[in-house]
Amino acid sequence: MPEAFCHSFLFGLNSMEDANLKKAVRQHLEMNDFFTGGFAARGQKTTEEQSENSKMSQDAAAAAKELEKIADEVRQCRKCGLGELRTNAVPGEGNPNARILFVGEGPGADEDAQGRPFVGRAGQLLDKVIEACGLKRSDVFIANILKCRPPENRDPRPDEIISCLPYLQAQIEIINPEIIVALGAHAARTLLNTNKPIGQLRGQFHEYYAGIGRPPIKLMATYHTAYLLRNYSQENRRRVWEDMKKVLTELGLPIPQHSRG
Ligand code: URA
Repeated sequence: MPEAFCHSFLFGLNSMEDANLKKAVRQHLEMNDFFTGGFAARGQKTTEEQSENSKMSQDAAAAAKELEKIADEVRQCRKCGLGELRTNAVPGEGNPNARILFVGEGPGADEDAQGRPFVGRAGQLLDKVIEACGLKRSDVFIANILKCRPPENRDPRPDEIISCLPYLQAQIEIINPEIIVALGAHAARTLLNTNKPIGQLRGQFHEYYAGIGRPPIKLMATYHTAYLLRNYSQENRRRVWEDMKKVLTELGLPIPQHSRG
């Protein structure tokens, strides 16, 4: 929302509405700054801010290039049998400097057809979760444990996970998110190297070990949106929202009022 528009928009409201709107606008601007690293052109910037921003955009460009290299490798990959069966590989997509990385299980039919993650029904629900958090899909990065679709959407096999995991590990290293949100049992168990059920793993922060000498990354496990679609109860939706609120709080982001519940 451009500042000038916000200004005239705020004009002539009662003081309560005025305060709420100003708060919303401030949150929006802070969020914008937060996720763009202040790239958005708004007002005068000091030379120091400009050089910091230019450094961040250089970092983002370098990360985007590295991620594209991995995506190219994924598109050529034949390390397991799934490579023969795919229409398109689905390397993942999003903000190379994302603070949140969502990790799903593997592409379904829609993702295989388009070469993009979470674009089917489960993806539309994930978009809603992201929006409820006050974020846009382009703010986060979305990837999967498997980059190619298992036939009939069967569970990933251990040999497939072992072949594919290095791609995700390399993506995590480049993006270096502050929080990984593991969607569903396969993502959570793989990244945490455990066999515990998702019901036990969800709702609390765990640590993902990115490698020797690298600090662990906080990981929140929650239900997969495909599971939510199959079990669309108020209780399950509330659980996912509780998990996401913990993520927002951990990142110091505001919890949108409309979604409070
Ligand atoms: N389910 C997943 O786990 N990943 C996708 O990309 C889509 C559906």
